[in-house]
Amino acid sequence: MAWDFKTEPAFQQKLDWIDQFVRTEVEPLDHVLGSPYDVRNPRNIKLVRPLQARVKAEGLWACHLGPELGGQGYGQVKLALMNEILGRSRFASVVFGCQAPDTGNGEILAHYGTPAQKERFLKPLLENEIVSCFSMTEPQGGADPLIFTTTAVQQGNEWVINGEKWFSSNARWADFLIVMAITDPDATPYRRMSMFIVPSSTPGIEILRDVGFGGEREASHAYIRYTNVKVPLDHMLGGQGDAFVVAQTRLGGGRIHHAMRTIGESRKAFDMMCERALSRFTQGQRLADKQMVQEKIADSWIELEQFRLLVLRTAWLIDEYKDYRRVRKDIAAVKAAMPKVLNDIASRALHIHGSLGVSAEMPFMGQITSAFVMGLADGPTEVHKITVAKQVLGDYRPTTDLFPSYHLPRQREQALEKYGDLLDMVAAEV
Ligand SMILES: Cc1cc2nc3c(=O)[nH]c(=O)nc-3n(C[C@H](O)[C@H](O)[C@H](O)COP(=O)(O)OP(=O)(O)OC[C@H]3O[C@@H](n4cnc5c(N)ncnc54)[C@H](O)[C@@H]3O)c2cc1C
Repeated sequence: MAWDFKTEPAFQQKLDWIDQFVRTEVEPLDHVLGSPYDVRNPRNIKLVRPLQARVKAEGLWACHLGPELGGQGYGQVKLALMNEILGRSRFASVVFGCQAPDTGNGEILAHYGTPAQKERFLKPLLENEIVSCFSMTEPQGGADPLIFTTTAVQQGNEWVINGEKWFSSNARWADFLIVMAITDPDATPYRRMSMFIVPSSTPGIEILRDVGFGGEREASHAYIRYTNVKVPLDHMLGGQGDAFVVAQTRLGGGRIHHAMRTIGESRKAFDMMCERALSRFTQGQRLADKQMVQEKIADSWIELEQFRLLVLRTAWLIDEYKDYRRVRKDIAAVKAAMPKVLNDIASRALHIHGSLGVSAEMPFMGQITSAFVMGLADGPTEVHKITVAKQVLGDYRPTTDLFPSYHLPRQREQALEKYGDLLDMVAAEV
């Protein structure tokens, strides 16, 4: 019997340390610093570096990486238990060396990078000396990569990139961008594009504007124009025409890790909801004593626990199969469920806080916007639901070849054939 919901005591001790450290040392950074990705800002260097050193001393740095890259090689279940604590704080991922999109970009560099690319780009990225950007989405569409138009044309010993990208997060702080561009316009649709590592100091890169969203401290999603941006031939990441294969490598882990952190973010809203319900009096009663408030608490707890179990089960499946493709449906299900859970819990927490809830002094408006972001970034919810439905239907094996509306009457007939004689005997006896 292998089902087990217990955490081994040695690991629980680590989780307790992380929980305490995040609450007392890391969460305060959220109130006093700008972006966690602004790694060259002297204020960030002064406050973040010592905390990163303590995480390293505890052996908890970049735990998603294998030991060969300086991590612990934790499986996804351990990462889930850890990330659901880190999700409370904007700065926690950076303090623990596991922030998106650098984790995904690091993953593809580790997987497809040449030794020279790893030395120049991956090594400093893993140490958080620099940060990176994934530049794929274009203004005319992100959910359909087949309408991308950015090109890379080989001229002598260089690739020349032209086009526009949109919502390239953290480009303003990144040392390099991973850019997806069409190299083979006549190839089959998913073989047309390649990936390039483009140092951000390369001439021809222009950030037209940085876009922000509600609740964000600093606008950081760049609208970029690439005009005759030249990179040496050896700056291609993976083979020519491999962009979609490379991109898939970073998405499986990225999506499930977002979901793990979303548990932490939702739990933070839930904790605040409980505190408010237990401490606010109206008409002679605590809010916690009113049934409609109790319903909000109960619904939130149930949704969070359901979601957490789905995430942990999916994490466990990834550990079992060690192949994201075999867990595609489950990851898509987690991705589709995630925005709704955060949106529902943050909205209830906001409502129970009354006027204070909608104010900029509370995190709820930002969390609700984040829920919408989660329903878009790494693909819209609809696309992930389609993935789930297609696989469920594809795997479905009907137990009868009859048309469904005849299913029940036919079963009744079969049941009577099987048990009719016995029932007749009972009827004769009574
Ligand atoms: C905060 C933030 C950060 C981001 N960071 C990055 C980044 O770093 N790098 C990067 O490359 N991209 C990034 N993105 C872009 C993200 O990947 C895209 O927003 C996403 O792929 C959706 O593309 P779109 O915005 O063009 O929406 P569209 O493709 O225009 O889709 C709009 C809506 O249409 C509907 N829709 C789309 N397709 C279907 C379908 N098949 N069936 C049913 N309905 C559908 C959905 O409701 C969807 O939300 C980021 C986005 C956000 C919001």
